[in-house]
Amino acid sequence: MADQEIWGGVLARLRTAHPNICRQWFEDLEPLGISEGLIHVRAGSDVHRDYLKRACADPFSEAARDVTGRLISVRFLGPDDTLDPAELAPPRAPSRLRDDSLPINPDNTFENFVQGPGNRLAHAGAVAVAANPGTAFNPVFVHGGVGLGKTHLLHAVCIRISQEQPDARLCYISCESFVSQFMQAIQIGEMEQFRARFREADVLVVDDVQFLSPAERSQEEFFHTFNELYQAKRQIVLSSDEPPEKIPTLQERLVSRFKWGFVAEVEPPCYETRVAIVKSKATLRGVDVPDDVACLIASRRIGSIRELENALTSLQAQVLVDGGPITMSLAREALGEPAEIAAAPSVEVITSTVTDFYNVRISELQSKKRHRSVALPRQVCMYLTRRLTRHSLEEIGGMFGGRDHTTVMHAVKTVETKRGADEQFDAVVSSLEKRVTGR
Ligand code: ADP
Ligand code: MG
Repeated sequence: MADQEIWGGVLARLRTAHPNICRQWFEDLEPLGISEGLIHVRAGSDVHRDYLKRACADPFSEAARDVTGRLISVRFLGPDDTLDPAELAPPRAPSRLRDDSLPINPDNTFENFVQGPGNRLAHAGAVAVAANPGTAFNPVFVHGGVGLGKTHLLHAVCIRISQEQPDARLCYISCESFVSQFMQAIQIGEMEQFRARFREADVLVVDDVQFLSPAERSQEEFFHTFNELYQAKRQIVLSSDEPPEKIPTLQERLVSRFKWGFVAEVEPPCYETRVAIVKSKATLRGVDVPDDVACLIASRRIGSIRELENALTSLQAQVLVDGGPITMSLAREALGEPAEIAAAPSVEVITSTVTDFYNVRISELQSKKRHRSVALPRQVCMYLTRRLTRHSLEEIGGMFGGRDHTTVMHAVKTVETKRGADEQFDAVVSSLEKRVTGR
């Protein structure tokens, strides 16, 4: 078998055995030939190389063995690495400190980040510091719930800077690992090496700072690292699941430092953004997902974007079993949805039914009027739209006079409470609901 043919076989094998790790850019990897039980493969950047080494080495080697029937491993090289084995494994620095920094995922670029109302500000801040590290804003602090793109933005900053300033010393680390390396450095007496690693960085990116241990000494160390870098105008980028003032274990002086720069929240994506994310992830994985299927995946009530990706993975698995293209019925089966979903009532039907009953005009519902005679029907409309359609809180707010999602949440709660307390009102809402759904 020619080397090129083997490589083609490896990629094909990966696509069937490990579809979830396959990416469109695997096509751009360049096989350099096989020798001594190794296939050397050149990646487009060091970020790609490091990611392949850390996250994909076993599946690649396994696929190479399956294809050749020989014991073969895959070795990844960056654009500037040579084939000389002596150079491939440079003598390690004498430090005994463990380096458990995480690899940067090359998929997490700005290009692959879908912007929406919930993340626009955080995205803008990240782009600005990546263009002008150390001078635009310092620090940048991104916070928000799990799976909403914080790590993606942090990676994107690192990738952009490493492309535009290849000599910049970047340090990307999770806060947990900062703390555990710090403890280890104390134990083995290598504080100097530990300090050097972080304080010599041009850009320090620390993910999940809520895990900064409450222990005085590690916060102290972090504080000094922060100050030193800040004073030297080095860029600091941080993420957390809460805003600085809400991280329970954080000392006041760190809270105030974290707030010095640019603080932005990432919020759950609205429906349109979710559709765009599903499409973008599908493209990245080289999967052809029709628009109606993307909408189906995006319309599921989800808490985190990772769940959208999981849905896509189930779909890929189902395609492997069934063969053929991705269709709506296949998607429903893969996602465990009933084959036929009763059509949801439209917002128009809901509003006209409710306004008929309360004898108000639709234009009044959309106005800023807060009088009870208008406010209650408006709240009932919001409540029914939320319950019976797949519109997001933001969208519903937009339909009823450009209100924000907290107003919609409040309306839903108010109607729920009133239904519990007022029997007659409860009966009215039930009958409106029946009329709207035709059931
Ligand atoms: P967090 O760090 O906030 O928990 P991640 O950054 O790990 O979340 O995001 C979880 C997954 O969702 C990742 O695969 C990421 O690429 C994806 N994701 C999140 N937000 C976006 C977005 N706006 N556009 C594209 N992908 C996104
Ligand atoms: Mg994260």
